[in-house]
Amino acid sequence: MQDLEQGVARFRRDVFPAKTELFTRLATTHRPATLFISCSDARVVPELITQSEPGELFVIRTACNLVPAYAPGSADGVAAGIEYAVAVLDVSDIVVCGHSGCGAMTAVADGLDPAALPAVAGWLRHADASRARTTAEGGAGTVAALVRQNVLAQLANLATHPSVARALAGETVALHGWIYDIGTGTVEELDATGRPSALAV
Ligand SMILES: [Zn+2]
Repeated sequence: MQDLEQGVARFRRDVFPAKTELFTRLATTHRPATLFISCSDARVVPELITQSEPGELFVIRTACNLVPAYAPGSADGVAAGIEYAVAVLDVSDIVVCGHSGCGAMTAVADGLDPAALPAVAGWLRHADASRARTTAEGGAGTVAALVRQNVLAQLANLATHPSVARALAGETVALHGWIYDIGTGTVEELDATGRPSALAV
């Protein structure tokens, strides 16, 4: 906790004064262009890997960057975040970013004891389609293949949310699937079949 307090002190002393203009504008303006959905994993830092400033990314983080398909009537925090980003903030792009060494994806590949981690096991059921897609492409048991197919499955789930479906039909939003490799800093973009290509060199 002391580290965090020292960090806040450094932010107040060194960072904030250097960006006063930005923070003054942000105090009354919230117009992010991108909804960025990533895993909660502490090693994945969306603003760092995209070199974004405060105010530029609307971020939703979930275990395994899972986006449950739209379920009418449920009080779903992820769905609410998506709807707000698309229907109110008018984001033009949505990125679902998976990553290497994902603990939860490894649990999905290896199997998990639901008695020990009932909430995690229940949440990871949202990756059933990801596992099925991975088996179909012959990559069963490979965490990297599962991470890729999981990103594609979440992009498909995103499109079931009415706000996203409407924006896709009106061509006002574009969906992107990314994979971040922690050990090399590489970011790859997936095509519709899950084939990766380097985003930047
Ligand atoms: Zn993860």
